Amino acid sequence: MTFAEAIRLGSVLRPQAFGDTFGKKKRWFRKPETTSCALGAAIEAAGVQWLPDTGGGTNITVRGGVSAGMAWMFPPEWNFTSTHELCPMCRVNSTIIGLIEHLNDYHHWSRQDIAGWVEPVEARLTGARACQIKAR
Ligand SMILES: [Zn+2]
Repeated sequence: MTFAEAIRLGSVLRPQAFGDTFGKKKRWFRKPETTSCALGAAIEAAGVQWLPDTGGGTNITVRGGVSAGMAWMFPPEWNFTSTHELCPMCRVNSTIIGLIEHLNDYHHWSRQDIAGWVEPVEARLTGARACQIKAR
């Protein structure tokens, strides 16, 4: 599964979060519903683990938070997300993972649109192509 596919798959599981990887959406007279940003959607769909940070990898804090010794253990094929690119909207230069959050939180892009932006970037940097299913 590519990163773009993971965003798309995870986005059908929950409403979109803004400002948090996983958030809570208040609902009248019912328990709050868990929400996910574009990154949270990919994390959930790919089954990424939240584990003690061993300090061996690249630590990227996408929203300026403190990891408190824990980190998402991204699969190695997602390493391309530490590459710098320009925001397609405002041309700010950031890591791809930072731009995923930027497009989600600042420009309020849908997770489907974010997946559509990252898909050709991922293909260019990794050669990974989303699975194509053709009906006959
Ligand atoms: Zn921007």
